[in-house]
Amino acid sequence: MTRAYDAIRLQRAVTKDGRKISLQLNAGLLVDLPQIELSGADGIGLFRTEFQFMVSEFMPKLAEQTELYRQALEAAGDRPVTFRTLDLGGDKILPYMDPVPEENPAIGWRAIRIALDRPGLMRYQLRALIAAGAKRNLRVMFPMVATVDEFVEARALFDIEVKRASKLGQDLPHKIEIGVMLETPSLAWQINAICDHADFVSVGANDLMQFFFAADRDNARVADRYDPLHPAALSIMKFISDGCRKNGKSAAVCGAMASRPLEAITLIALGYDSLSMPVTGIGPVKSAVLALDAEKLRARIAPLITLQSRLSTVRDEVKAFCMEE
Ligand code: PEP
Ligand code: MG
Repeated sequence: MTRAYDAIRLQRAVTKDGRKISLQLNAGLLVDLPQIELSGADGIGLFRTEFQFMVSEFMPKLAEQTELYRQALEAAGDRPVTFRTLDLGGDKILPYMDPVPEENPAIGWRAIRIALDRPGLMRYQLRALIAAGAKRNLRVMFPMVATVDEFVEARALFDIEVKRASKLGQDLPHKIEIGVMLETPSLAWQINAICDHADFVSVGANDLMQFFFAADRDNARVADRYDPLHPAALSIMKFISDGCRKNGKSAAVCGAMASRPLEAITLIALGYDSLSMPVTGIGPVKSAVLALDAEKLRARIAPLITLQSRLSTVRDEVKAFCMEE
């Protein structure tokens, strides 16, 4: 957080028309934790647990995992922390695990797919999360879920670990919420079914956009070819937020899209109330939120987000809106 945003650090992010927006941090390592206080973030919306595994020489032991999660919860105090279970494979490779050569690692054996095929590693991690969350609120979400069955299976593993901890007489979390990262287009088309099983939904917009436009996020030639403010992208984002609302579930966004002010206010206009981002985004996004009339922006862009739209982006319209306000 730079000096420029000091004055609004402790101010709540509320739009001019009264929508309370939760601005949270993306984190993953101990060094990130002081940023909660420094930035005035409302919590950690995405704790990337694989970072600890990626910076370690050996697989982190149960006690080491538990300690990191405990410190994250401690640093956040009353604010929520959403832990994402290991998102390995794809762009995230461990030096001490045998690489599995794949033609298309981003759509290969990664994240929840590894966890369900080799449940030992995830059960171990869930054990650490449950221990760290003792007598606190614990929020956990699963990455790269493509079908409701995968989520149900992963949630069942969590339940087994809760029962185990209880049998051993351990203190349990006061409250447990198990959510899903929505980052595959297929899951968007199961929105009602996933809301029946998940306690919350967080859109991983980096991967969702990569798969939606079939454009590799790590390939500089195509990564920026499609604008996430394309009407097609916004219509799937709106479809997800409407679906969550209809089913009484909160919808958050935790991809890089949430950290850019124009994108962030557009997401808010589409119905999202919770955005998680790198620390550098908190000040600029909060400042944009404070200046936003979300209903006005919604009405302005709604006619452009249609299946007939020929626009390649609504960015100019959102910019013009900001200039006029
Ligand atoms: C995402 O996919 O949008 C996301 C937040 O997760 P990651 O960038 O770690 O894949
Ligand atoms: Mg992702």
